[in-house]
Amino acid sequence: MSEAMGLKAKLGLDVFKPGKVAHIKIRPGMEKDSRLKTAILVCPAGLYSENEKGEVELTIDGCLECGTCRLVCGAEVLDWDYPEGGAGVQYRFG
Ligand code: SF4
Repeated sequence: MSEAMGLKAKLGLDVFKPGKVAHIKIRPGMEKDSRLKTAILVCPAGLYSENEKGEVELTIDGCLECGTCRLVCGAEVLDWDYPEGGAGVQYRFG
């Protein structure tokens, strides 16, 4: 693997198998919580974004299961669990 390979290219090597249900959910009513704005900054896969209404949205496909958002947001904001067996990320030199 090239030393100059960028983060997006490295993440592109991983395989993500979606589960039947999202393994991380923003709890209803918490979409504008400031902790989620921090998650936008720290999620290494860039899965959190803010929409035009100022609400934070999560796209779960590509989740690295690192737990960073769980630590930043806590259980009050996120319903966080690992994907069911056989689903989720498979690391491939990423
Ligand atoms: S577990 Fe990691 S990769 Fe997945 S959404 Fe949270 S911060 Fe992003």
